[in-house]
This record gives sequence, structure tokens and C-alpha cells, in this order.
Amino acid sequence: MCEAKYEGPDYAIRGTAADGQVLAFAVSTAKMVQEAHERHKTSPVVTAALGRTMSAVSMMSLQLKGAEEEISIQIKGSGPVGGISAVANGEGDVRGYAEVPDVDLPLNAKGKLDVAEALGIGVMSIVKDLGLKEPYVGSTHLVTSEIAEDLAYYFTASEQIPSAVALGVLVNPDGSVWTSGGYMLQLLPGATDEVADMLQERCQNFPQLTTFLAEGHTPEEVLETLLEGLNFQIMAKQPVQFKCNCNRDRVERALISIGEKDLQSLIDEGEDVDMNCHYCGRTYHFTIDEVKELLKKAR
Ligand SMILES: [Zn+2]
Repeated sequence: MCEAKYEGPDYAIRGTAADGQVLAFAVSTAKMVQEAHERHKTSPVVTAALGRTMSAVSMMSLQLKGAEEEISIQIKGSGPVGGISAVANGEGDVRGYAEVPDVDLPLNAKGKLDVAEALGIGVMSIVKDLGLKEPYVGSTHLVTSEIAEDLAYYFTASEQIPSAVALGVLVNPDGSVWTSGGYMLQLLPGATDEVADMLQERCQNFPQLTTFLAEGHTPEEVLETLLEGLNFQIMAKQPVQFKCNCNRDRVERALISIGEKDLQSLIDEGEDVDMNCHYCGRTYHFTIDEVKELLKKAR
């Protein structure tokens, strides 16, 4: 393997090019995806699927403000993974999980991790929670189940924003993450056909993203290469990291919300209760006495 791999913190950048006709994003996520792999004990194909989804949502988080605004990508599929969920807030905190983390599949015909087979046919939904009364939800069906093309299709079909998306996770033979990241180019209203054609050609000629990142290239260099000669300018840069928003208070409220009857039956069973957070795998332990206290609060 190449020695020049980027070892710094994960971060996402957003910029514009071609006098505002193009919106561009790129991200490096090797540390975040490694942490997801360790927390959820994901198999290589699930590390790739979850890592691609978390990379995508990391870039989309650059359109949000603060910890209160969140965006999520939810994938539901007929394949053995079942589903993937990844959420990011405006501060670059990203969490995610796969319903079945240990799916093991043979490599596909190209010798790659078979994310499409792991996900199967299904639906991708994007949920934007901007702190308003209702979150914004849009959904499209999966077109390739490789995630990047599915997200590009989502933007084009659901939000009328022609987009190109590349996502890549390179997994080591021992299951750890060698490199991970993504880029996303979007054409804004008023973009000319000339710019659209040029971007399509640039994306087609761009090297395999994981190879490019594994050679030590940064997110800036990804976009500078794709947008060379188009006056690319960086507008925002933000660290991104695996960070869950769960805490004991939130878990207590979730327990209370199951209602008096179910809490009573937990107490009747006479055993302590462990509550797991799907997103980060953390366990919250409650003794019977603590569950009894929650029952009082529920009343
Ligand atoms: Zn959590």
C-alpha cells in the first residue's frame, strides 16, 4: 500500500465554481468510518455501505447550521443488510448504523465489495430537520444500490438539482479502514450546457476516488482537480467526526415513553434493564429500583 496516506483529521469542504454555476463538496472520513466499524463490528461490505452513507451525509451537513439542524440518509433494502441510517448535524457530528452489521458476501464481478447485493432493491430517503414544525422528507427508489448513484438520482429526481456523486471506502484485509471519502458536484439553476458537459467529462476521467485518496490527496485536491480552470473557491471547511447525541436523560425519556404497563412488566420480570443506542452501540444500564423510579415519573 502507498505510504502517503492522509493522516490528519476528517473534514468536509464546500465551494463554488464557474461563477456560481457549480456547488462542490468533498470529504475525508477514514477515522469516522473506522470508528463506526469498531463500534458496530461491521463486516467489510457493511463498512463500505455504512461508510459511503456517512461520507455522503457528512458533505450534506455543510448546508446546515448548528447542532440543532440535522440531515439523515435512510436506506431500506431487500438485501441481507436490511437498512442503513446515517445522521449529521451542522457541527459535523455524524452517527450511523446498519441493521445487520456482520453480512458476509463474496466480492462482485469487478472484485469489489458487493454493496449492491448487500442492500438489494429498495428506497433512499433524505430527512432534513431544520428545527421547523415538520422535517422535510424526500424519497426515491434505489437505482444501482451502490449509494453514490442513488444519491445523485435522488438529487436530480426529487430536488431537481443535477448532481454527480462519488463515494468510496477502502477496507484493509484485516477489516480496518484504509481510506474513505467522497465528492459531490451540483449544477445550480442557470448553469450552461457547456459547464454541464464539462463536469460530466471531468467526472468520467477522474481516477477511482479511493485510489486518489490513498495516494495522499486531500479533499481540496479532489475538487481542484475536478474543477481545474473553473475558478474553484472554497466557501466552508468543517471537521467531521463520529459523535452520537445519545445520553442517559434521553434514554430515560425513551423508557418512560413505553408506558406504565410495559414498565410494570419489566419490573415484574425482576431483572436489570440494558438499553442500547442503535447509532453508537453504547449501553445504558438501569437497575430495577431505577426502573421503579421511572414508573413513578410515567404516572
Ligand atoms: Zn448513541
